Amino acid sequence: MGLNFCMTCPECRRNITGADVRAERCDYCNTEICVPNSYHRWTDIPAYLVLALVAIKTFSPQFLEHTWLGTLWFWMLAVVVALVKLLISMFIPPKIQPKYVNEDITRLHLE
Ligand SMILES: [Zn+2]
Repeated sequence: MGLNFCMTCPECRRNITGADVRAERCDYCNTEICVPNSYHRWTDIPAYLVLALVAIKTFSPQFLEHTWLGTLWFWMLAVVVALVKLLISMFIPPKIQPKYVNEDITRLHLE
């Protein structure tokens, strides 16, 4: 995977914004776009490695005795994963693909 610091439309090569990605459509050429499934797999690995490290470092047996502490700890871990994924997407943005690429993969799995 090459490093590209801005997201570009696969069709017209213009820079696209996070809002375009959420709308799943390029604002200029109206091409349907998406973040490739492989990118999510790729960002999951470091995010869950950090999660495991933070969980091991911060765990206390008190979390099992006091439910509210355990719940608080669980939410803290969820925030950590979300932050790591956000940081990765800021430094290594996904290579945006036309929407049909992901749909083809899904169809192949269903058959
Ligand atoms: Zn475009």
